[in-house]
Amino acid sequence: MVLIDGKATANQIKNEIAEEVKAIQSKGERAPHLAAVLVGNDGASLTYVGSKVRSCEKVGFDSSLIRLPEETTEAELLTKIKELNQDDTLDGYIVQLPLPKHIDEEKVLLAIDPKKDVDGFHPSNFGRMALELETFIPATPFGIMQLIERYDIDTQGKHVVVIGRSHIVGRPISILMSQKGAYGNATVTVAHSRTKDLKSLTQQADIIVSALGVPGFVTADMVKKGVVIIDVGITRVEDASKEKGYYITGDVDFDSVAQKASFITPVPGGVGPMTIAMLLKNTLLARKWNA
Ligand code: NAD
Repeated sequence: MVLIDGKATANQIKNEIAEEVKAIQSKGERAPHLAAVLVGNDGASLTYVGSKVRSCEKVGFDSSLIRLPEETTEAELLTKIKELNQDDTLDGYIVQLPLPKHIDEEKVLLAIDPKKDVDGFHPSNFGRMALELETFIPATPFGIMQLIERYDIDTQGKHVVVIGRSHIVGRPISILMSQKGAYGNATVTVAHSRTKDLKSLTQQADIIVSALGVPGFVTADMVKKGVVIIDVGITRVEDASKEKGYYITGDVDFDSVAQKASFITPVPGGVGPMTIAMLLKNTLLARKWNA
């Protein structure tokens, strides 16, 4: 069994990005610049945005954190987005989700200039991805594809079962793995909350991508020997015995499933660290494409 080390792979990608930043600067050009917009004081969002900003600094990017109060109106946020779209010193930006309830997320995401949409959530970028055109691929599925490529996992003609159909993970990864290409060409089944007899599907799967957010959902009796397991789930489970008062776990019953798997991602340390690395990669691409 090969344990897929997402932390090491993400660090390797960050080092590669840092080298490219040095090369850009050695030509007298400015470093890539990523901004993050955070509305309100949601604790988890603050943590995520904080680590995105710190990662920018590590690879030599410029970064801006734009914090707006919880009471910001939709119109005020849209005005800010317009400013960011027009700011030539900015290559890409993200609007951290979720937004406060009084703001229409879809309206905001649609207002982002697709050329600066390094999250890859804008419909025009999502459409370009589906049509196999050059674009920003959403960071988590982009990270999964990088793990598959860098661990040289054979996907040709394999049966992939994706559990979950969210717009940020399940749906895009199902599109990417079924596309033509060296790490695509898979036959993909997308399972979701209305799927019947999931076990009979997962038992046939060569590769399982689990993105539903239910700890211990995928058990050893659901998988065949030699399966490749990509566990995207991240759930905080309260546990008073831990220093932080909780621990993080994935969707897969790791100890039992790992005994049957050929490759498996741990949680934490698997897909999670890749997400920020791929956001940085998208910002570097934005710098190149928009130059
Ligand atoms: P979501 O929470 O929006 O939706 C869950 C999906 O699971 C839905 O599509 C639903 O149809 C499906 N589902 C629910 N019950 C099911 C069942 N019994 N059988 C089959 N499918 C079922 O999905 P999301 O936003 O992709 O998040 C999924 C998990 O991935 C969460 O734990 C989230 O924290 C994690 N996540 C991790 C990263 C990362 O960087 N590693 C990024 C995004 C999300």
